[in-house]
Amino acid sequence: MKLFGVLGDPVSHSLSPAMHNAAFKALGMDCEYHAFRVSKDSLHDAIQGAYALGFGGLNLTIPLKEKALEIVKPTDLAKQIGAVNTVDFKKGIIGYNTDGLGAKMALTESSVEIKGKNVLLLGAGGAARAIAFTLATEGANVTIANRTPERAISLAKDVGSVGKINASDLTDLKNLVKNSDILINSTAIGMFPKVGETLVTSDIMHSDLVVFDIVYNPLNTRLLQEAKTAGAKTIDGVKMLVYQGAEAFNIWTGKIPPVDIMEKAVREKLA
Ligand code: NAP
Repeated sequence: MKLFGVLGDPVSHSLSPAMHNAAFKALGMDCEYHAFRVSKDSLHDAIQGAYALGFGGLNLTIPLKEKALEIVKPTDLAKQIGAVNTVDFKKGIIGYNTDGLGAKMALTESSVEIKGKNVLLLGAGGAARAIAFTLATEGANVTIANRTPERAISLAKDVGSVGKINASDLTDLKNLVKNSDILINSTAIGMFPKVGETLVTSDIMHSDLVVFDIVYNPLNTRLLQEAKTAGAKTIDGVKMLVYQGAEAFNIWTGKIPPVDIMEKAVREKLA
């Protein structure tokens, strides 16, 4: 039997075990996927330990994606993004990033055009890095707004070579939202257990806005509720989770991931 896992802190909310175990079962593979609570300080030992134990692969979640760059050998894409969310052990300890692809697929599956659009990206953490890089590469004008503005500035500098990226703090969200076509929350705000929180409320949204919350637990976050009140189009975090997971599954196993089964498993768990 081959073991896989997601490392994070907190990690009990993760739906990756349900999603990947459903995929393994559907393909008749003798594999199991579990969640492990690991702090930044223990990440090196945890990754080396999983490698030594013969794990098939790992996912990394909050707050480990940037720290992992110091520990694994990143692909060019993961290095450019500055964050790792998938680790494969077949040829050493290789770090990939599949979050950007997941976010792009979530938007395109919802028929949202990216090229030329003004995107307001809340957050400058590991997931934001992948989204900023990918959407700027696709031709969007991205403004990163973060609680710690230095992190937004540093992210804009790091990935700015691929396209148009600006940085901001959170003090002028009203104007930033007004001038945006797509609002993406990639902060931990609204995530279980602090489910009532949001950085943006309906009174400063407009009905032409697309609001994409990458937080998926809960599914109907306070931000998405506010967006519905404002008459905006909403996209929840499940598609991104499924597509980033499907790409990781393919990297680990070389098999075509059963995307529909993976999505069904996630939505059933959240229902
Ligand atoms: P991370 O690297 O730890 O970044 C967290 C971000 O949230 C930072 O920008 C941080 O701002 C901000 N933040 C945290 N608490 C805040 C607060 N009270 N007020 C304002 N900003 C706050 O985490 P991550 O890996 O990017 O993940 C972020 C979220 O996205 C998590 O909920 C995760 O589950 C979700 N996610 C979903 C998917 C998906 O597939 N749907 C994929 C990846 C991540 P500072 O820089 O100021 O600390």
